[in-house]
Amino acid sequence: MKYSVEAKSRKDLRLLAHHIRDRLRLKPSDAFPAVEMLELLDIWVPDAFFEIVEEDELGKGAHAETEITKSIIRIREDIYDRACAGNGRDRMTVVHEIAHLIMLRGLGFRLTRSFRDKVKAYSDPEWQAKCLAGELMMDSRYIAGMTSAEVARKCGVSEEAAKLQLSKI
Ligand SMILES: [Zn+2]
Repeated sequence: MKYSVEAKSRKDLRLLAHHIRDRLRLKPSDAFPAVEMLELLDIWVPDAFFEIVEEDELGKGAHAETEITKSIIRIREDIYDRACAGNGRDRMTVVHEIAHLIMLRGLGFRLTRSFRDKVKAYSDPEWQAKCLAGELMMDSRYIAGMTSAEVARKCGVSEEAAKLQLSKI
């Protein structure tokens, strides 16, 4: 089953990321506190919570999932542990799930089933979560002009994610 969500452009999501970061009183240069945010989900969704789960509780190969109707984020234990230790890719996984929760529950972006074969990127909940997570972790007001290695180190992301983000500035 494919889902479609009301369209948001990267520009929309970039402004949203600035708003979220400002509300958390983060400076543009502060690394996004991915794991700490899991403890603060109720800022966005009053009844939201997260669980750390064993590998067999998620789909095969899945790192994490968000059950929107119940406002639960489930993170695989090894992913959570590595995110706590500062691994960029795992931190991004955590923020990706938080992005889903904020958009679909906190802000109520409208989600509908899609009967088309292909959902346009701007309306794809996965594209939106990927985009918002990147914008949250790498503040566009900060990273312009930096190298991908600097962005990776200062923002706590993988160099691959840093390269992708810099290509969007
Ligand atoms: Zn996702």
